[in-house]
Formats: sequence, structure tokens, C-alpha cells
Amino acid sequence: MTIHTEFATSNLVSVEPGAIREDTPPGSVIQYSDYELDYSTEFAGGAAWIEGEYVPASEARISIFDTGFGHSDLTYTVAHVWHGNIFRLGDHLDRLLDGARKLRLDPGMSKEELADITKRCVALSGLRESFVNLTVTRGYGKRKGEKDLSKLNHQVYIYAIPYLWAFPPEEQIFGTTAIVPRHVRRAGRNTVDPTIKNYQWGDLTAASFEAKDRGARTAILLDADNCVAEGPGFNVVIVKDGKLFSPSRNALPGITRKTVFEIADAIGIEATLCDVTSRELYDADELMAVTTAGGVTPIVSLDGEAFGDGRPGPITVAIRDRFWALMDEPSPLIEAIDY
Ligand code: PLP
Repeated sequence: MTIHTEFATSNLVSVEPGAIREDTPPGSVIQYSDYELDYSTEFAGGAAWIEGEYVPASEARISIFDTGFGHSDLTYTVAHVWHGNIFRLGDHLDRLLDGARKLRLDPGMSKEELADITKRCVALSGLRESFVNLTVTRGYGKRKGEKDLSKLNHQVYIYAIPYLWAFPPEEQIFGTTAIVPRHVRRAGRNTVDPTIKNYQWGDLTAASFEAKDRGARTAILLDADNCVAEGPGFNVVIVKDGKLFSPSRNALPGITRKTVFEIADAIGIEATLCDVTSRELYDADELMAVTTAGGVTPIVSLDGEAFGDGRPGPITVAIRDRFWALMDEPSPLIEAIDY
């Protein structure tokens, strides 16, 4: 088993610049498509949609005056493409549009139009495995630096690039390490609404630095009531006595967690959203971090000590393997990209 002790602080790990895939554990459930990327267009390897136009990812630029940048006044989602299939795009768009509605942001187009542009970005990129970001911002006005909310033109930005991993395949297979931060708590839902996916990452970034300082890969943040919230880019699911539990508050309603709960249901495992106290976290039988950018990753070490027997637990492994199997099985969850 490999447990890393040296980590970059960023919570997202990309494949090497210019590469479209990375090594994954041989024989594991996580395998990239075996294909050659067609580099005959400038979009190959990454495409974006900005201000109504498709542009190569290398040329993607937005205005410095966008309040999405200045005030983090936005919502976004990250979907993924695996083996040429986009996963749960409809659910991602529903969450994005729900967040936009709560923030009074108007993307100015329908769910279907957003879906079409998203799939076109992926098709242009040619990528069979892709990290796909859709962001709606409050945008900018005619006057430079305009802050009058009624005078801003809302913007939609969409891009498809090579996979970025919150947990690279090796960690998903062999497990990863986490701490519970001592110095920072997750913002409360009465401060930043966690059901709206957002970039207000001050607490999550501080937690990532603390994790690095303490020799761990990532962090599980508690809220002000000592209940588990979430981590930098993932939901937390615990296993206790053969059942799954995940925080019902101060956490994003993750699409991966939803999938994990559906898988659990299908294999006869009870799964409940409820408060998860810090004591219940430490008393759990298994821990997993679940996210689009990291599938279902077993956490095998907490606060520098082996969690359980220090190996991925059987329920986590069963759910992880089923999760990746879903990427190929014909079902309403996936849609083939028309390259
Ligand atoms: N929580 C936070 C704060 C996130 O940023 C993410 C994903 O980026 C998640 C949870 C997991 O959500 P999903 O499974 O929809 O990717």
C-alpha cells in the first residue's frame, strides 16, 4: 500500500501539461480510454465557451472586471466525461440552475442549450476523459469595475480539459490520508449557503495547507457545532455497522454522494443523511471522500494514525468499483458524446 507523505498543496492534481491521461494502477477499475487524440484542430486537448464563442482552452480568458472574480459572485459545477460518456449532466445542470436561481443569476439560456454547449466543448476537445466546468457569474457592466448589481451582464463560461483529480487513481485504489483541521472550521450554512456550489474556499484552502503541514493529503472539516461538514472538493461518507451516513448540513448536495447512496440502495445497504458528529467520525468503521474529481476514495489514515486496519474497507471498495462500472453501462446516467 502506498501512502504519500509529500504533497502539493493544491487539492486538484492534473495530468502532466499536454498529457491527456496518467498512469493508473494496472488491473484496477480506473482505466483511461486507449486512443490517440486527433490534434488536427486547435481545440484538441481542451475547449472553452466564453462570451458566445468557442475558443481553444489555451486561449480561454475572461474579464478581470467580472464580479465572479472580484466578489466570487457566481455558482458552478464540475461534471466529468469517462470513456467518451458524460456522467449525470442533467443532475449537474439542475444543481447549477438551482444555485443560479438562489443567487438571482440568470444564465440567459435553457438547460438544453447549456447541455448542448457543454457537449460541444467536449466534442471539440476530442477528450475521452475530461473535467468539465460550467460557471455562471454576475459578470460585468459597460463601465469598468461597475458594481451596481442591476447593471451587470451575467456570464456563462464552460470548458472541457484533461482530467483534474482531487484524488488521483492510485489514491482511489489504495487509499488516502486526511486530518481534521485544528485551526479552521467550515463556514456555517447561515454564512455561505453550502447547497450553492461556490468558490468561497477560504476555509477549505486553509484546511488544505494545514493538511500539508501535518503530512496528510487532505482535510475533513467540522462545522461550528463539531459536526462533519465536508472537505476541499468532496463530501464525506462514513460506514458504521454496515450502514452509510453523510452530513445533512454544511455540505454540498454532491452528485457523487447521490450516486453512492443509489449504489448502496441497490446492494441493500442503508444510507442516511444526518448530523455526523466528530465522535461518530472517529468511531466509524470506514471513511470515504466522494467527488466528481475523485470518485470514491477510501481514507485510510486520520490525523496521522491508521484508520481501522489502515486499508480500504470492504463496503467502500464495493461502492468504488460499482461507481466506475456505471461509467460504461448503458443507463440514463450516461450520455455518449458525439465526437
Ligand atoms: N463539496 C465540495 C465543497 C465540492 O467542491 C465538491 C465538488 O467539487 C463536492 C462536495 C462533491 O460534489 P460532486 O460529487 O457533485 O462533485
